[in-house]
Amino acid sequence: MKDFTLEVHGEHSYDYTGAISEPIYLSATFRHPGFGQSTGYDYGRVANPTRQTLEKTVSLLEQGARSWAVSSGMAAINLVFIILDPGDHILLSEDLYGGTIRLANDIYGHYGIDFEYVDTTDLELVRQKMRPRTRMIFIETPSNPMMNVSDIAELAKIAHANDAFLTVDNTFLSPHFQKPLTLGADIVVHSGTKYLCGHNDIIAGFLTLRDDTSWLAKRIELLVKSEGPNLSSMDSWLMLRSLKTLGLRVERQAQNALALAEWLRKQPQVTHVYYPGLADHPGFALNKQQATGSGGMISFKVSSPDLAKKILGKLKLIAFAESLGGVESLLTYPIAQTHAEMPKELLAKTGIDDTLLRLSVGIEDADDLKADLLNALKD
Ligand SMILES: *Cc1c(COP(=O)(O)O)cnc(C)c1O
Repeated sequence: MKDFTLEVHGEHSYDYTGAISEPIYLSATFRHPGFGQSTGYDYGRVANPTRQTLEKTVSLLEQGARSWAVSSGMAAINLVFIILDPGDHILLSEDLYGGTIRLANDIYGHYGIDFEYVDTTDLELVRQKMRPRTRMIFIETPSNPMMNVSDIAELAKIAHANDAFLTVDNTFLSPHFQKPLTLGADIVVHSGTKYLCGHNDIIAGFLTLRDDTSWLAKRIELLVKSEGPNLSSMDSWLMLRSLKTLGLRVERQAQNALALAEWLRKQPQVTHVYYPGLADHPGFALNKQQATGSGGMISFKVSSPDLAKKILGKLKLIAFAESLGGVESLLTYPIAQTHAEMPKELLAKTGIDDTLLRLSVGIEDADDLKADLLNALKD
């Protein structure tokens, strides 16, 4: 089936009542029919029917073999990093969600794991950086916040030639637009908080594997069972409800984003617009080749840091807030919010500075969004 159908119907347990809306199983534990017998559900940390329906739905959307729904995007990324061993070398996109860089540098760096940031849009550079102990390449594409596009299929080949994994944080495009596992990636992670939820009301994360029979699947299963990062059944239900409109929301957001990107670049106070749906964006062709849409995220630079700060205070409809992917448009100031803890050299190298703003475009009328921005841009 096609994406729009899978998003609405996905997996459904259809219990004895025939309920169309998936039941929320608020049960921490489950009765055994008899000694040595199980319904398949024993204890909520290990399996919950509502969460399992959600996990199977996400696997269908990503065309993966197995998914885990966890309490945040960072909990999902933690599951990826915790499989590493001291002495392992990891290549990461140099332009990444700030929390991922913090988890790598400030937590796992202390356990002897060697994280190296590279421009993963440059395949030759990535090839040169591979070492015998390189266990994983970890990327975002388009990246946060500079919207750089990396070649998933080619990076998978480079990783596999070295017996390493390719992990893709697919938060920015969602499986509606991009399915990294079908391009050769081994692991997909999501901040489910963003497009998958889409309503700015829950924090959630996902990890999906291409192969369910590998050592990796057994390891993640053991980790989830042992550490208990699972998503609650209530939040699992909210997520299932959100996924039904994923395609409608993200298609509309991408349409609005293109209109706003084209409009923003015509404004005299705007010096750069970064959106992979613009034909002169360096990643335009590659994104078109590996994804079916350009997403709803735009970054742009304005003529001065003072103007950037003034805009944040003057917007009325668009909220100055962290996060992204919801139906409401949000504007973020990466240097002070999402990327505040990014090392200075990386900020300079990637071009994240105090004139950069990141817009998460919602599903409002594009003309109203333009009017709000126009009012904030002018003196
Ligand atoms: C928000 C975000 C995360 C972290 O997810 P949480 O749900 O906030 O823990 C990871 N990656 C990207 C690209 C994000 O935007």
